[in-house]
Amino acid sequence: MAYVSGRTYLAIPGPSVAPDRVLSAMHRAAPNIYEGEIVEITHGIIADLRRVALTTQHVAIYIANGHGAWEAANANMFSRGDRALVAATGRFGHGWAEHATRMGIDVQMIDFGKSSVADPTRIAEALAADTDHTIRAVLVTHVDTASTARNDLPAIRAAIDSVGHPALLAVDAVASLACDELRMDEWGIDVIVGASQKGLMLPPGLGFLWFSDRALEVSRTADLVSPYWDWKPRGTGTEFWQFFGGTAPTHHLYGLRESLTMLLDEEGLPNVWRRHETLASAVWAAFVAWGAAGGISLNMSDPNARGRSVTAARIANGGAGALRKWLETEAGVTLGIGLGMALPAEPAYADFLRVAHMGHVNAHMTLGVLATMEAGMQALGIPHGPGALEAAAAAIARGSAPKP
Ligand SMILES: *Cc1c(COP(=O)(O)O)cnc(C)c1O
Repeated sequence: MAYVSGRTYLAIPGPSVAPDRVLSAMHRAAPNIYEGEIVEITHGIIADLRRVALTTQHVAIYIANGHGAWEAANANMFSRGDRALVAATGRFGHGWAEHATRMGIDVQMIDFGKSSVADPTRIAEALAADTDHTIRAVLVTHVDTASTARNDLPAIRAAIDSVGHPALLAVDAVASLACDELRMDEWGIDVIVGASQKGLMLPPGLGFLWFSDRALEVSRTADLVSPYWDWKPRGTGTEFWQFFGGTAPTHHLYGLRESLTMLLDEEGLPNVWRRHETLASAVWAAFVAWGAAGGISLNMSDPNARGRSVTAARIANGGAGALRKWLETEAGVTLGIGLGMALPAEPAYADFLRVAHMGHVNAHMTLGVLATMEAGMQALGIPHGPGALEAAAAAIARGSAPKP
């Protein structure tokens, strides 16, 4: 007997759940793209995109996904043959680096593996060795959605500054923006890469780059840039047509207007961060309890080093794959695959999964996923420790307790 009737829940780290209000805002006739409402709301959207990254500097919008925004960042920062220092902490760090290599950028890779954060000391050492200052930028993923490692961006900025190196700090925040605390200007970030379908709670289709005045200066001589990806008209232009390099993404803009209002003006960014923190702590508490039986473990052992929007875990002996399948076919919940931990052809591939708690999620959704996982473990005979749901509930209760 399957229990899939009812609303399904895609609990993978993007696309995240789009609020009904966002979808409703998009469900309308096409607007005039030359004047009127869409032109007027775009100015407010750009101002609010600055607010969501906590910057007063520049933002460019692309009709693209996160991969497109990676390419846009590379194209604006680098000239052919320039060097990039990449600190990879999972599959997404390597993905960005592969794009850079294929574009003709000379990538120097520091691979921190699949379950560690970047060590700022090693970044400082690599920069100190670059006495000619040929490294144009340091590329780092804030939360690597595969390993769910969360890097300490202020510490990486401090490492760059400690050796007096002029490299830009470029951050892939696709998985963390509007979920995890992220402060572009205060933390000295030069470039942030984002996309619409994660913390911003929209369907896939928009990529974003936030960039500093310094990054803008560097881009003036970068020769990899091509007309569509050039951030200068998009980020510093004044005419509506310059912002999109062609027809505006009309319906995504209406959706974005709604999601930014929900995040910034209704819930408030600090509360958004706190909600994700609490939901993450419930997921972690459940896994710790399940893990008492052996065979189940979180990928990142240090809670400080874990992203707040997605959790990667291992359930041995193919348990993760079996559980994912059971949840989808029996209970209407889809969990994320274990990305980059093993190749799909390897048996270990079925030992990894990810639970997303990203974007438009609340306590009952996350507790529902955990309870459904518990049911699946029982149904499938996966050994697991007791008390996971009590522990998750306690984490939610702690998170909601009034501050003394
Ligand atoms: C999702 C994601 C991407 C890629 O985004 P797409 O929209 O799938 O191209 C890049 N980096 C991180 C950290 C992500 O989570």
